[in-house]
Amino acid sequence: MKALVTGAAGFIGSHLSERLVDAGVPVTGIDCFTDFYPRAIKERNLERLRESPRFSLVEGALADADLPTLLDDVTHVFHLAAQAGVRRSWGREFHIYSVHNVEATQLLLEACIGKPIERFVFASSSSVYGDEVALPMREDARPQPVSPYGVTKLAAEQLCYLYHVNHSVPTVSLRYFTVYGPRQRPDMGFSRFFSAVARDQPVPVFGDGRQTRDFTFVADAVSATVAAATRGKPGGVYNIGGGSRVQLLDVFELIRQVTGRPLRVERLEPQRGDMRDTYADTTRARADLGFAPGVTLEQGLRAQYEWMTAGQ
Ligand code: NAD
Repeated sequence: MKALVTGAAGFIGSHLSERLVDAGVPVTGIDCFTDFYPRAIKERNLERLRESPRFSLVEGALADADLPTLLDDVTHVFHLAAQAGVRRSWGREFHIYSVHNVEATQLLLEACIGKPIERFVFASSSSVYGDEVALPMREDARPQPVSPYGVTKLAAEQLCYLYHVNHSVPTVSLRYFTVYGPRQRPDMGFSRFFSAVARDQPVPVFGDGRQTRDFTFVADAVSATVAAATRGKPGGVYNIGGGSRVQLLDVFELIRQVTGRPLRVERLEPQRGDMRDTYADTTRARADLGFAPGVTLEQGLRAQYEWMTAGQ
């Protein structure tokens, strides 16, 4: 295997690159260090990778890269680069989401035509589902995203599908459900909750706190991603959810236990585009990828908290 990982400096991309490098796989990472969150955080994500002789990083946006050269000898593409986050995808910011999530994906897929690529694994999202699907969410449900971000991830997923059908690019899309753990992006829930508790500030919660999420520990998401690179059915879509579906209010109790500190909640207005519930049916991923998430929410929260406190 020789891998290209897009978004390698990001939260999940850096963990995935480490897993591959540790398994002896040469990895080329590409990342343009978008200003969605500070570059210093992404540089920290890369610290271990930069020490590996098997890892090299190309700094730049996919649209500006020499993609044919980047894909030389590559057997597996892991396409994680994106503008993430639901809440900022409205208004004029949508343009950024279109460029990084849709246009960049199309360019990369186009460059893969005719190359001896064994799998092209795309990081999609539970955000494609929206609020109208039955729970647990199944891959064959009709996706109706309720955020502009979700629309861009669905569009990219559809591009993956059509490049598979028309050009035999062996794409596999993984719908990640709220990934957490060490290096989680600073805009994401657990990162914000832990930082608020550490600063003795109230924890900001959008809505009534009764919304549910199916949380996935990052190591489990990475295992699924690596498995998809060999076992994923080309043209296929898989839910990757950790099986820890809980209400936010119950997460706060766990955070109290993990931090040993009091926690005050500050209720904020519900956010447009936030889904009410997410809950993955992972039957397909279990059958085809051997997906078996192994980290409980409490274990995963402890790991994230230890990482956050170690860095302070
Ligand atoms: P992240 O923001 O930490 O990582 C994405 C990286 O991609 C960033 O380092 C960014 O600089 C880079 N990037 C963006 N556009 C680029 C471009 N055009 N060219 C090169 N680099 C570019 O996000 P993450 O949380 O690690 O998410 C990784 C992927 O997983 C994304 O595609 C995201 O949509 C998807 N996803 C994440 C979650 C989650 O819970 N974290 C859930 C569902 C889906």
